[in-house]
Order: sequence, then C-alpha cells, then structure tokens
Amino acid sequence: MKVAVIGAGISGVTTAYSLARRGCEVTVYDKHDYAGMQTSFANGGQFSVSNSEVWTTWGNVLKGAKWLLKKDAPLLIRPAPSWSKLKWVSEFLWNTATGRYEKDTRETIGLALRARGLYLDIAEREGLEFNLVRKGILHFYRDAHYFEAAKYAVDRLYKGVERHVVSPDEIARMEPSLNIEGVIGGVYTPDDMSGDTHKLCTGLRSRLADHYGVEFCLGRKLTMQELRVVQNINDAVVICTGVDSAHISKAIGDPLNIYPVKGYSITIPTYGKTHASYLDDQAKIVCSHLGDRIRVAGTAELDGCDYDIRMDRIAPLTKWAKLNLNISTEHAVPWAGLRPMTPSLLPIVRKAKADRFWFNTGHGHLGLTLAAATAEIIAGEITAR
Ligand SMILES: Cc1cc2nc3c(=O)[nH]c(=O)nc-3n(C[C@H](O)[C@H](O)[C@H](O)COP(=O)(O)OP(=O)(O)OC[C@H]3O[C@@H](n4cnc5c(N)ncnc54)[C@H](O)[C@@H]3O)c2cc1C
Repeated sequence: MKVAVIGAGISGVTTAYSLARRGCEVTVYDKHDYAGMQTSFANGGQFSVSNSEVWTTWGNVLKGAKWLLKKDAPLLIRPAPSWSKLKWVSEFLWNTATGRYEKDTRETIGLALRARGLYLDIAEREGLEFNLVRKGILHFYRDAHYFEAAKYAVDRLYKGVERHVVSPDEIARMEPSLNIEGVIGGVYTPDDMSGDTHKLCTGLRSRLADHYGVEFCLGRKLTMQELRVVQNINDAVVICTGVDSAHISKAIGDPLNIYPVKGYSITIPTYGKTHASYLDDQAKIVCSHLGDRIRVAGTAELDGCDYDIRMDRIAPLTKWAKLNLNISTEHAVPWAGLRPMTPSLLPIVRKAKADRFWFNTGHGHLGLTLAAATAEIIAGEITAR
C-alpha cells in the first residue's frame, strides 16, 4: 500500500512510523528542509498526561475575559476581527455551553496514556536520543484557588493515573533548585516525561529513511495541483500539516476549524543536570530540562498566522525563569510557534470526505503528548481498508 504523509512535524513523522511498521510504502513531504521545523521545533517538550484537561469551562472563559485587560496575561486575543477567529471562538463557547469538558478531558487522558507507552517503545526500539527525562512533571501552586482546582481534577478526572498531592517541603526535597517561596503545594505525576521534540522528529526521520525505506521529499511547499498528483499516485494521503491544515482541508472540500494559537518559548543554556519537568498552572508556563538547555514555554495569543517574536510576550517567560529557577536569561534564545488548535482541543483523526485523503492534525497544545497515539489510530484505520 502506497501512502503519502504531508508534514514532517511530530504528527507527520509518527504517522509515517506507524504506517511503515505496518508495511506501507511511505513518502513524507514537507515545505521545510528538515523535519520538525515548524511548531514541533522549540515547544515545551512535555509528554504530559497530567496536562490533559481541555479548556472548555466557564471558569476558563471568565479568566480569559479578565486577562483581556492585562498586557502580560497568559492569554491575549488581538482585537482585529476575522471570520476564522470568530468561527473558532464561537465553536469553543458552544463546546463550553454543551458541557463537553469531562468527556473530552477523559478522551485526552486516554490518548496521552497510550502515546506515552508508544514513545517509550519507539525510543527503545530505534535507539533514539532526544534528551528524554523520565522524572515526572511537577505542577506547583502559589494560589489556593488553582491548587484546589488541581486537587479536584486529581480526584475526579485522573483516576487510574498516578498523581500525588505534595507539600512545599516535599517539593523542596524533590527539586532543591526550584524557588518555592510562596508555593503552597503541588501535584506530581511521576510517570510523565519531557524531551526535545525537534530531536525526536529528526531522529525518527533518519531511522525511517535508513531502516524503513521511507522517502522524504523536503524543502518544497506542495501546491494544490501537486497535492492532486500525490493523491493520484498513492492509495492514501494523510494531512499532518499543523496550522496549515485549515487551508489545505478547505482546498480539498472538507474545511477544518483549526486556529493558530501562538505561543512562545525561551531556551536557556545551562549546566545539564536532569530534573523533573515543571508546570505552573497559574502562569500557564511549562519548563523542561533538555540536557544542557532549559526550555521555558507558554502564553497563548489569537492573532492569525503571525510568527513575529514579540519581546513583550517573551518578557513573562524570562521573568518566570529568573523568579523560579534563579538563573540568568542573558543567553536565552526566543522562539514563537503556532499551535494547531481545534475548538474542542481534541485532534482530528479521521478519513476526509475527499477521495483517499485522511486527517491526523489539530493537536493544539498537546501535539507531542498525543501524536504517537493518533498516528497508531490513523495508520490502523488506513491499513484496515
Ligand atoms: C509555545 C508552545 C509550547 C508547546 N509545548 C508543548 C508541550 O510541552 N507538550 C506538547 O505535547 N505539546 C506542546 N506544544 C504543542 C505542539 O508543539 C504542537 O501540537 C505540535 O508541534 C504540532 O505538530 P504537528 O506535526 O501537527 O505540526 P507542525 O510541527 O507544525 O508540522 C506541520 C508540518 O507540515 C508542513 N507543511 C504544512 N503545509 C505544507 C505544504 N503545503 N507542503 C509541505 N509541507 C507542509 C510544515 O512545514 C510543518 O513542518 C506547544 C506548542 C507551542 C507553540
């Protein structure tokens, strides 16, 4: 069976892997010269089952409304109106109003758990080196309201996932270099992990090319005409194009409501000690130790397909790093990426209406966490036909 995968980000390379292991003849196309150069380049690096809650709650809507008035808030909605922004926000509110939160969160937890096991298998089987750290994720809190909400989620939603509520003293013992001033407690998920998404993409790309006969056609943006040619010479074409899936899906007659939600990261050179990964729920900032670098990532901005790195949005990340990690950010490297976000926050993994086209896209803020699982699902469905 001949299958084309469009996109060599984390969703594309994992899809290619699942297909190749099922014996498919796979070709991967990407507009960049290398794998993992778009949103999978410098993200937070967390494989986070513990961050599976979808955002569709009235509490989040209220918080978002308050944040609109704050310049350095974790969420920013630029006022310029657009049809795609309006459509996305309306559907998000609809999902909130129709009470999908618990069901969708449980579905995300299931996918994230499945993906975690798959990543460990892939890393071992293929001998991949991507700064994988298996020291868990520590969520910590300075605000009682956020801490209570986290404990409620542990009791209600995360049944079956090992998650412990920890005191400030326990946090200090676990992570002595973390500044715990003002911290009132935390929730620790020992089985969560962190790693470098870009290294994972490039490592998997090499293994796929060298050991599974997968062909990579990189450095060329496929036009619609070329996509039609690819459709004609393959039995299936899987769209794994992140934020670009919105216009590609429209062009093939099955438009997806995927909006680019911008986020930022800074990468700071450091001394290379491995730690747990951190998640500050209140600031909506994640932090991972990637070998001799620390990655701090966060913020969400609704402003269309804009890749500009705005230093006023980087400032909360450097401030956070200085306060919590006591490190210099003098050599921090800033980056901005666009999360391919659906209004339900669930990825789209299905056959498209157009002949031979399939979707594995819309992984939002959890592409690394979920991609290995959605790749298995889509590859299973394609080969079952
Ligand atoms: C600041 C930030 C922090 C994040 N932190 C985390 C985290 O800690 N954990 C986590 O799980 N997730 C995180 N994410 C989300 C995660 O990065 C994304 O969900 C994931 O990278 C999406 O992967 P993808 O393969 O779908 O898209 P991409 O990585 O964007 O890949 C899509 C590929 O399609 C290619 N493409 C598009 N159109 C065409 C075309 N016409 N022709 C050829 N090629 C094309 C592009 O070149 C691109 O390489 C974060 C995101 C951001 C922005």
